[in-house]
Amino acid sequence: MVKKLLKDNKTLYVWEACDFAYQEEEWAQKCQQWCEKYSTCNIEITQHGAPLEDSDTGA
Ligand SMILES: [Zn+2]
Repeated sequence: MVKKLLKDNKTLYVWEACDFAYQEEEWAQKCQQWCEKYSTCNIEITQHGAPLEDSDTGA
């Protein structure tokens, strides 16, 4: 499912299956629908978001 995440006072919508975060819920839902249908991400959709990064290493 798509979950809301609060980061830097901004709400992100995260599609859990592929860990992509979107600023707009609409895109997260599009990603979910596409991924469930085709079992792969659509770059046309994911370019509207960004991969959810683990901040463990601190880069
Ligand atoms: Zn996806």
